[in-house]
Parts: sequence; structure tokens; C-alpha cells
Amino acid sequence: MSERRGFDEILRSRDFVVTFELVPGRSTRTRHYRHIIRFAEEVASKGLFDALSITDNAGGHPALAPEALGRELRRMGHHPIIHFSCKDKNRNMIESDLLALDREGLHTLLVLTGDYPRYGYRGRAKPVFDLDSVSLLRMVSEMRRGFRLSPEVPGGGVELPPIPFFPGCVVNPFKWSEAETLLQYWKLVRKVRAGARFVITQVGFCVRKFQELLFFLREEGLRIPVLAGILVLDIRLARILHRGVVPGITISTELLREVEKESQDPDRGREAALDRAAKLMAICRGLGFQGVHICGAPLDVEAAHELLERSREYLPRWQEFLPQFRDHPRGAFFLYEEDRETGLNRPRRMPLTPKTRRGILYPFMELAHRVFFSSRSPLFPYLRRWADKLAHSALEKYFLHLEYALKKVLFDCQECGDCVLPQMAYLCPQSQCAKFLLNGPCGGSRDGWCEVYPGKRRCVYVRIYERLKPEKRPYYLRDLELPPRDWALFRTSSWLNFYQGKTPRSTEPPEG
Ligand code: SF4
Repeated sequence: MSERRGFDEILRSRDFVVTFELVPGRSTRTRHYRHIIRFAEEVASKGLFDALSITDNAGGHPALAPEALGRELRRMGHHPIIHFSCKDKNRNMIESDLLALDREGLHTLLVLTGDYPRYGYRGRAKPVFDLDSVSLLRMVSEMRRGFRLSPEVPGGGVELPPIPFFPGCVVNPFKWSEAETLLQYWKLVRKVRAGARFVITQVGFCVRKFQELLFFLREEGLRIPVLAGILVLDIRLARILHRGVVPGITISTELLREVEKESQDPDRGREAALDRAAKLMAICRGLGFQGVHICGAPLDVEAAHELLERSREYLPRWQEFLPQFRDHPRGAFFLYEEDRETGLNRPRRMPLTPKTRRGILYPFMELAHRVFFSSRSPLFPYLRRWADKLAHSALEKYFLHLEYALKKVLFDCQECGDCVLPQMAYLCPQSQCAKFLLNGPCGGSRDGWCEVYPGKRRCVYVRIYERLKPEKRPYYLRDLELPPRDWALFRTSSWLNFYQGKTPRSTEPPEG
């Protein structure tokens, strides 16, 4: 059942890997789907790409499940990369889907958080996000090793056979503020620790950001193949992206104007779009990426061939093209100093800004937690005994109401019973993050705003970063990995759960 050639082998054996992204739509009976199949057949016969990836309900709309197209691609001799997101399914469905992928021999996964659901049958679908990308990678890694079923579950106590998944992850280096940049990179560290074996970047047109990512990985000592996301930008796509409706991708007005001008050419900008993508591919190769991942405007085989050929031709001159790829907003944050000669980076960190937004209540919350919810507090043994008695008395339900009334007012508490407030600078990810993420932000925030509520609600992780900054404590976010929330605790007292040791993570706030 395994693939003819694993993606790990492809990454090992090639100097430079080129993958291409396919976006299945809402029906397999359309011209779009027929184009995908024809394209895949033709590129298979010409051996143009090392792998084809298939998106998972891109943009938050329902679409054909990637495994269905993956199966067809496999039959054609392709190596499919299945985008596997955390949205639309809880952890049991995720496991079930992973078992199905194993059965189909589809083992290369691109694990990602996924887009927030937008349009669906008769309205917006319920957002699920039971796991985040870090916990999903952890789960896939455990399945790789073969995990042991708990003896308490029916049929438990046995070891499940290992499954040869090869998971990758994504990162968005195109963040323009200090908090969003660092939070993205720290999350990448956690993803790699949780088992990611390769990385694909978000698309963008700023070479300094592409290189920043490579510098960061080198500084962290993370040796992992990274494929740069290359966008073939036509006028239709440029207009959509400029409107900011695709989370995580930004293009400037200047770039939009350029593409508009190109679209007046007799070929409606085809040549210019290919040229731009080919130059960026050459640059990324020159910078040291191990490959590129091409996506964007639909291509025919001839155009795909031309793109690859041209990028090879451009490779010896890649440095010449650097000035054409500086698409970033004014005042954008970069982690490293600028090398004025090349417009790239020098391997020296920029100083971080002292800007913080702490909130008036934060110090009181921290004090209350240290006194009442720390095993190091002198009160802890007494409170634990008292909690034990209370948990077995008729007063428990009144205590529960009291706890949730108070926490609703202070934190907009969602009564999960599995509290992570101390780790999250007293901001609740269940109520403040649209995707309920526990291990760092998704890639969709823009200028500090949540991708789901732009201009209305700031990304909770940016707020956490700013709250922790005065004590230089946000750095613990780089290493913190929280397990998924335990739904068995829903609507139980998180305070009593803490004292009774049911929520092992609800300890004192981590030290900086
Ligand atoms: S709050 Fe931040 S991490 Fe959560 S969905 Fe919004 S942008 Fe993503």
C-alpha cells in the first residue's frame, strides 16, 4: 500500500524539489475538474513536478476531499501531498481519516490549521478545530511510531502498528509586525519538535522575508527541508489578494498596479506572470531553499514547462532580480538587520521594540493565580484538602455556578473545565481565538487583527505576546506545547479539577 517513492526519498535525492498545488472545487463534473485531471495526466507523462499537492477545502468552502483526487493522482504515477487541516473534524474523525489515507497509500501530509469555514450549505458551517496543527502533528508522529491504546478504552491495552506517514507543516514568514513574526517562527519550532519533516512557506513577494526564515532556522539549529511558496500571480488573483480576503497573503497596491499594467498586454499578462514566478524561483534556489511549491493562477502544461525552464535559465543571475522583490509595507518588521548592498539581511538581530499592552487587571490575575493556583503557594495543601471535601458535597454545584459567573465576566469563559489561563497571560483561547488554538497563532492574522474579525478583534496571540513582554516572558511561548483540551471536563469546575489533579497542565504560569 505504500507509495512507490516516498517524499522523504525525493527530498533526499534531489538538489531542488518542485511541487505544484491543485485546488479541487465543489464538483467533479465541472470544466475545472476536467482541467485538473488533464493537467495532471500531461505533467505525469512529462515528469514535470516531483509531487502534486491537493488542498483541503481551501478558503473555508466545502470541496472535493483531497484523498479522492489523491487516489487518481497516484494511479497516474504522481506523488500526492495531501493537505490535512484541523478544521471541520474532531480528533476522532481526524484519526479515522488518517486510517483511510493509510489504506489508500497516501502518506505524505501537509498538516495545517486550515481556513475558518465561510460558506456552506444553507449558511456557515460550525467551526470545529478540535486539534491545532501542533497537536495534530504530534498525533501523526505517534501514529508513525504506533501508539498504545489506553487499557481503559474498549479493545484497549494493545499497540497499534506504525503507519509510515511523512508529515510536513506550513509557516507564514510574511508577517509585518514583531509579535506576528516571532509568534509564527516560534510556532514553527514547536511544529518541528512535534514531528514535521518538511516545511512549505506561505506565498509572498518579499525576498528579505524569505531569507529571514532561513536565517531563523539556522539560528535555531533546525535542519529541515524548506520549500518556498511561489505564486503565479494573474490579474484576477492580484485583485482578490489585494482586497485582503485570503487570510495570510498580502500584496501591495504597487504590485497590483504592476499586474494591472501587465494585464493590458496582448497575452493578458501571461508572460509577465510566468517571468515573475520564474525569477522568484531562481532567487529562492539561490538563497538556499531546498525547493519550491508553485500555486496560484491555473497553468496549462506548456506554461508549467516554460516556467520551469525559465527558472533554470535565470538561476545563474538570481542576484540581479533581488530589487524586483521587495513587496512589503512601509515600517514592516524584520528580525535581522538589512544588508543595504543586496537588500537582503545580515545575520544580526534587530532590537525588539518596547511596546506593550498589558491591561489593568493582568497583575491582579497573576497575583491571584500565584496565591490560589500554584502548587508552590503555602495555601496549596489546605486548599487541596478543602477542594476534595467540596467536590464530594452538595455545595459543589453552587461553587461551579460561582466560578463560571466570575470567569464569564472576567474572561468570557466557555466552561471548558480544562483551564489554560495562566499559560495564556489570562486570555482565554476558547473565547478569544476563532479557531480555539492552544499552541500559537494560525497564519491568517493581518496587522495584528484576527483573520476572522479583521478590524474588530485582535489576534489573541498578539495580545498574549504584548501582555507578556514587559517581563521578557513571551519567550516561553516558543517552547510551550499544550495537549488538546479534554472534553470529559466540559462544564466541570476547572478550579476543583486543578486541585484534584485532573488538569495536569493547570499549574503555575510558566517562568520566562
Ligand atoms: S485569534 Fe489569531 S490565531 Fe485565532 S483565528 Fe484569529 S488570527 Fe488565528
